[in-house]
Amino acid sequence: MKIRVGFGYDVHRLVPDRELWLGGIRLEHTAGLSGHSDADVLIHAICDALLGAANLRDIGFHFPDTSADYKDIDSKILLRHTMMLVRQAGYELGNIDATVAAEQPKLSPFIPAMKQSLAAALSVPEADISIKATTTEKLGFTGRQEGIAAYATVLIG
Ligand SMILES: [Zn+2]
Repeated sequence: MKIRVGFGYDVHRLVPDRELWLGGIRLEHTAGLSGHSDADVLIHAICDALLGAANLRDIGFHFPDTSADYKDIDSKILLRHTMMLVRQAGYELGNIDATVAAEQPKLSPFIPAMKQSLAAALSVPEADISIKATTTEKLGFTGRQEGIAAYATVLIG
């Protein structure tokens, strides 16, 4: 069996008066991520990792932010569609390992709910999804709470 690795990275800006969606769930916070869709930075990084692993371009290619179809869209829909493309290309997910860099809010208590939400959207076992949270020690844009970054690696085969 041929196995392939993929990597994804995404950043969204934190702004007041936006809902904060991360890993497919809504978190209570004083700010939310801005973007054309719901701006779920973790899901976007995972989508890019999946597309990269299957050599299917990137999230902007499939879901352009100039399209009204994707305005404020639930990123779980994009994730489901991405996984469908990967399966159509003949692959199944091995595992996902992702890291979210955010100073606030503290994400650790919400990771089980995120894993559950992503597993449901992808139709894979929760055991195949790892999500880690880190701060950047108050350094850089994530440390100053100007934005949240997410990194994801996936294996498909
Ligand atoms: Zn994004």
